[in-house]
Order: sequence, then C-alpha cells, then structure tokens
Amino acid sequence: MEGKSVKAIVLAAGRGKRMEAERPKQYLELLGHEVLYYSLKAFEESCVDEVILVTGKEETGWCRKRFVEEYGFSKLKQVIPGGRERYDSVYEGLLAAAPCDYVLIHDGARPLVTREIIRTVLDGAVSFGSCTTGMPVKDTIKVAGAGDMAADTPERDSLWAIHTPQGFSYPVILEAHERFRQGAYRIPVTDDTMMAEIFMRKKAKLVRGSYKNIKVTTPEDLDVAALYLEQSKKGL
Ligand code: C5P
Repeated sequence: MEGKSVKAIVLAAGRGKRMEAERPKQYLELLGHEVLYYSLKAFEESCVDEVILVTGKEETGWCRKRFVEEYGFSKLKQVIPGGRERYDSVYEGLLAAAPCDYVLIHDGARPLVTREIIRTVLDGAVSFGSCTTGMPVKDTIKVAGAGDMAADTPERDSLWAIHTPQGFSYPVILEAHERFRQGAYRIPVTDDTMMAEIFMRKKAKLVRGSYKNIKVTTPEDLDVAALYLEQSKKGL
C-alpha cells in the first residue's frame, strides 16, 4: 500500500428508531464507553491513514470534543454532518474523503469490528475494486410474499449475511453514488456494494469476517455485544 492513501468513513448519523431509546444506538453505553468508541478505536489501530466520522448535524461539536480531544483518536481528521438516508451520509463522507485511493465504509453501530477484518477488506478492495465482509447464513432464509406466506426459499449454501466494513477503489464508489443521485427515483439501496453492483456493474468480493461483528440495532444486541467485548478483552 506504499504511496496509496486509504480513508475510512464511519457512519453515525442514523436515529436508531428500532432501539426505542432516547439516544441514537451509536451513543448508548457499552462497558463504560459509547458504542461508537469501539469502531473508532479499531480504525485508529488499523492500517487506514485517516478516519472521517459522519454524525447528526447537532452532534458534530460534541463528537469532536469527545473522540478527538478526550479520547485522542489522532486519525480522526474530520467530523461532518450526514444526511437523511444512509446513502446521503455515505455521499457526504465520500466528498470529504477526496482525494484518496481506497475508502472503507463502516457502520458505527458495529462495535465488534477488528483490525484484522479491516485489513482483509482493504486487501479485497485493492484486488477487486469492491469488497465486503460478511458471513454465510446459518438459518434457512425465506422470501415472504403477500399475507406473510413464504414465496421462495433460496438455496442456503449461496447466502451470506453482509456486514461492514466494505472497501472500494475510491473512483468506483464515488461514481456509483453520483450515478445513483442523478437518477430520478430512489430504489432502496441498503449498502454500498449494492451501489457498485447496480450503478457500476462491479461485483463485490466477499470475505469472511466474524459472526461476532454484529450491528447493534435492538436492545438485546447491546447485551450480546457486551458479552463479545468481554470475551475479546480476555483474548477469547
Ligand atoms: O439504519 P441502519 O442500521 O441501516 O444504519 C446503519 C448505519 O448507518 C448506522 O451506523 C447509522 O448511524 C448510519 N446512518 C447514517 N445516516 C443515516 C442513516 C443511518 O449515518 N441517515
């Protein structure tokens, strides 16, 4: 990676309605720190050169104080406001990341990300232009039809649950987002590899991460995340 610049966008501008808490999920307390702290720490200790944190408009000042000044995360160079949808927040992050060669995009609500996963995703981005971490699913997955009747059962062996970080060649993912934004209507795009697939015809390399790399979405996820973090502190 000599001479190439790698930046990470950590997303924390969501409101986290499914958590039913007063604060967005990324700021809830997890073993004495905010959920978001753990992602920022993993990126601080990783191979990326710079981190851009995307937060709600009202939270940029507080986050700068908390994570840059108090925690002293030195790779955290910008804290910027996000947008209405996740893809709006990513786009703001992409504009702020220019210029760079590779970019990793991570949900701040996934505190169990590790340095090793970050490295693997970056290697995949360098080799393939688009890469995501995830894990093969363990459950049988059904497609629900009208009235919650099962419409289809895709073959389990070919299904993965997709996590973050996701890594890209910077021009590929920027162009994908620009094309999406030029379109007249908004299809539900839930992650960035999907952006690259639809708008750039760029397939993503899937790399195994960890079943522990969960997204803290509903209250019970916080308990599970705490258990996993305790285990990782003990080196389990
Ligand atoms: O809502 P969901 O769980 O898909 O959000 C994934 C990540 O995207 C979270 O870290 C959330 O803070 C972030 N997000 C964002 N801007 C939005 C919506 C979500 O940064 N408008």
